[in-house]
Amino acid sequence: MTAATNLFDLNPAAMRDWFAALGEKPYRATQVLKWLYHHGVTDLDRMTDLARDLRVRLRDLVCFTLPEIHSSEVSADGTRKWLLRVDTQNCVETVFIPEPDRGTLCVSSQVGCPLACSFCATGKQGFSRNLGVAEIIGQLWLANRELGYFDQRQRIISNVVLMGMGEPLLNFDNVAEAVDLMLDDLGFSLARKRVTLSTAGVVPGIYKLAERHRICLAVSLHAPTDALRDVLVPINRSYPLRELMEACRHYARADSDEPITFEYVMLDGVNDSPEQARQLVRLLSGIPAKVNLIPFNPFPGVGYARSPKVTIDAFRDILIKAGLMTITRKTRGDDIHAACGQLTGMVKARKATIQHSRTAQTR
Ligand code: SAH
Repeated sequence: MTAATNLFDLNPAAMRDWFAALGEKPYRATQVLKWLYHHGVTDLDRMTDLARDLRVRLRDLVCFTLPEIHSSEVSADGTRKWLLRVDTQNCVETVFIPEPDRGTLCVSSQVGCPLACSFCATGKQGFSRNLGVAEIIGQLWLANRELGYFDQRQRIISNVVLMGMGEPLLNFDNVAEAVDLMLDDLGFSLARKRVTLSTAGVVPGIYKLAERHRICLAVSLHAPTDALRDVLVPINRSYPLRELMEACRHYARADSDEPITFEYVMLDGVNDSPEQARQLVRLLSGIPAKVNLIPFNPFPGVGYARSPKVTIDAFRDILIKAGLMTITRKTRGDDIHAACGQLTGMVKARKATIQHSRTAQTR
């Protein structure tokens, strides 16, 4: 007997193909998608508009498997973090950040991360595996269920950022199919401007994304020169700034010059001088850009400290004076280790951490 198909692994196109292969009409996919993503129903018996004999047939063919909630925590500032078990060895984290005008879910794309950025807790713990489509869209589904969305049909999560554990562009196909479900009217029907993918700079992935999904792009820049970026974000050794900036220009053009967000973690005495701010201005000239300064979030054993507020403000002012839209990201959920760069989950069965060869990254 072949294994059951997890219907959470299928984007709308794949779901239609799956029903077609079964000899069923494509509208069966529409019905099932609505049950799953509009009503939060995963019980075939409650999918009452499916003919009874089809339901009986499906019982042996499909399953609805999602990560399991291992634990959850709520920060003093209202940020919520769920630790989700994805297999016997591994857990990933998902974070909900409520704000007065929006609710943002920060979604993980891999178990651990192979890129080993020197200031990132996820990077420090190594890499186990890519998440599947169900494990990615499942984070949004579970958070929605926990927040009561399926009961009230009132949008609580208005934005999704692929900024949790992992490098989303190294898990391109599964991430892209999960994004299909985020955007599709039969899925969570989020506007594409409300979905942001953050990358450490996987250049071929940026070109692929421009073809596939014109969602918002954020780039973890963190340094204005190759010499420093090689140290902080080691993938820079494979894709240096010149190539990364060219890819960003391409993406912005493909997305009608929507600005790209450049993330810049503020590390005391490392990348936060006025001269480095001026270098950053020169680097970003000619690119539609917004800059997000992220006060560094420390974790045990890391050799960096957060830049003082006066330094961050001075850095920000240089960028603003040069005409760059710049904000300092508010630190949220750090009391429950839910802030940027603090997500670790539980990662076992680790593999190699850094893959420097291009073939390894583009395959
Ligand atoms: N791999 C992707 C997705 C992770 S996003 C990427 O690199 O963009 C997480 C964001 O938090 C990135 O901008 C990352 O560089 C930043 N970050 C990592 N560690 C951090 C820390 N300790 N403090 C503040 N920001 C951090």
